[in-house]
Amino acid sequence: MNLFETVKSAVTVKQAAEYYGCKVNRGDMICCPFHDDRHPSMKLNRDYFYCFGCGATGDVIDFAARLFGLSSYIFFAFLKKVLANITGMLYNLFLYAVKPRYR
Ligand SMILES: [Zn+2]
Repeated sequence: MNLFETVKSAVTVKQAAEYYGCKVNRGDMICCPFHDDRHPSMKLNRDYFYCFGCGATGDVIDFAARLFGLSSYIFFAFLKKVLANITGMLYNLFLYAVKPRYR
């Protein structure tokens, strides 16, 4: 499983929308963040979103990336970098923690 698939299986579009402050109504509809939307016209499904107003569609990654105004590719390159840094940091921390204090 690659990083895209991991994120997609872990986070639904709805969860992402809620996380980014969109109000999700009972029908899983939100006001589209990608056009001037007064009444909820974006439908959130498990794996993808679709806006009846402007036709915006995509998966959870497209959603997050579009909110930040980035293409999915750039967004993921960025995310990968962040994750790599965190992993590196944790690894160093771990090495530091288990390093014997005496020689
Ligand atoms: Zn829209």
